[in-house]
Amino acid sequence: MTDPATPLLELRGVTAGYDGIQVLHGVDLVVPRGEVVALLGPNGAGKTTTLLVATGQHPASSGCVHVAGRHVNGARPEALARIGLCTIPEGRGVFRNLTVRENLRMASYRGTPEALVVERAVARFPRLGERLDQVAGTMSGGEQQMLAMARGLATDPTLLIIDELSMGLAPLIVAELYELVASIAREGVSILVVEQFARTVLGVADRAVIMQHGHVVAAGVPSDLEAELSAAYLGASS
Ligand code: ATP
Repeated sequence: MTDPATPLLELRGVTAGYDGIQVLHGVDLVVPRGEVVALLGPNGAGKTTTLLVATGQHPASSGCVHVAGRHVNGARPEALARIGLCTIPEGRGVFRNLTVRENLRMASYRGTPEALVVERAVARFPRLGERLDQVAGTMSGGEQQMLAMARGLATDPTLLIIDELSMGLAPLIVAELYELVASIAREGVSILVVEQFARTVLGVADRAVIMQHGHVVAAGVPSDLEAELSAAYLGASS
């Protein structure tokens, strides 16, 4: 059992790149237990690359990645999943041609019985209960995001990483999804959420990290970061 004060995810001085071109220049990022951390920044800032390094899908060139206090540089995504890390990729990662129930059944292959996965999914996301036999690809974007979260939570993760939760969704739906994210965090799951546009996530985030050009330019409690946020997004669009 690790010390509860040990962050679930910690990146220290991480550099990474593609084909010899460096895109992360010494990224520091901490996700404490039971907190929601928002990773923000404009297009091309390096958010997805940071997430890929954190989840073992892209190598760090230097620096350290720790999950629950373990040094995990070079660990495969499957090994990270076994120690409690779950990623919901941009585009949601649901099987569009399968029904909601079949999608949940696939998640149950990881150990939790199907009936329990379905029961928990419906308790948390009642709307999925009304749609168990609907083909996932025909549901609304928000419902698909709920299904993706239900699938991820079936593995009982300690750290949930969500890439662009708001992608293509109406603001009201995004607000509803962030309420759900907040309630998942209250149950003790730590959450790292990557977003390009910030407002809604800041309402539920305990802290935020702002990236620009492969650097962390600010980190802290959301209410302290207003000026940095404006600068990051205005700077990006000029
Ligand atoms: P967005 O919000 O647009 O998704 P981001 O902050 O997630 O952006 P990244 O996708 O991490 O940023 O991209 C950071 C930099 O790395 C960009 O300059 C991008 O062009 C480059 N990059 C990302 N993926 C690759 C790749 N597979 N091959 C080469 N360069 C890449």
